[in-house]
Amino acid sequence: MLATLNDIYPDAQKRRIAVGAFNIVNFENILAVLETAEKLNEPVIMAFAQTHEENHIATLDTMGPVMMLMAEQAKVPVVVHLDHGVNISYIEKALKMGFTSVMFDGSALPYEENVAKTKEAVKLARAYHASIEAEIGKMAGITLNNSGITENRKSNRSNYTDPAEAADFVAKTGVDCLACSFGTVHGEYFSEPNLDFDLVKELSEATNVPIVMHGGSGVSHEDYKKVIANGVRKINYFTYMDKAGAAGAGALKEPNYFHEYAQAGKDAMQKDVESAMRCFTNKDEGSL
Ligand SMILES: [Zn+2]
Repeated sequence: MLATLNDIYPDAQKRRIAVGAFNIVNFENILAVLETAEKLNEPVIMAFAQTHEENHIATLDTMGPVMMLMAEQAKVPVVVHLDHGVNISYIEKALKMGFTSVMFDGSALPYEENVAKTKEAVKLARAYHASIEAEIGKMAGITLNNSGITENRKSNRSNYTDPAEAADFVAKTGVDCLACSFGTVHGEYFSEPNLDFDLVKELSEATNVPIVMHGGSGVSHEDYKKVIANGVRKINYFTYMDKAGAAGAGALKEPNYFHEYAQAGKDAMQKDVESAMRCFTNKDEGSL
């Protein structure tokens, strides 16, 4: 069944867990994610990223309606979310399709411009009864790979989200949750992640809204637990699911048909998603 972020955050807050947000670029992603959510009886977020328009076969036009239909049929609450929307018109296209949640990413803009554009996006999302996420602070990785930001800046918070600015941003824009920069990286980590856990807590206390962690792949389960304890309620996860699918399909011995790759990839992604989702929701062995 369809849900918004605001439908599922109160329970996540009460249980002190995080909801996984998985990017969808093919049908096998949808199957892997929904199979896992129903198996664990947990709500889940399926996201389509505007940045994936160019690098993947699927587009919002082709994948969006499929995501909507599959979410409606699911036995658990499913948020259909637009990830990293950078144009208001693109966000509106997703909302018109029925997406229950959108992200406006103005993190590359000057602060005041980010506030102004985010306010516009909030107004639009509200008109469609959708939830809205925004972002401040700079993150390394795919979407900002020309910004020259390096990883592991725990000792130097200059590129991280500032708690006072985050509080001001949330008060001015009225967003439902905030993506913050505290040491994670989009895509693959090329050195050990070094997250600023204290900053997550400061951001959570300063803003009083759920904190969103982007770049969730490659972070240890121990570190997931720490950020969740400090206020992260949504974790964006894609790269390692995608890698697991490649490994699963690649391990096939002399397949004759494409559907054998699709099945093996889906099965491997399901296992990876389950491991992540169990950790986020305290259903892993360490928590039982
Ligand atoms: Zn992201």
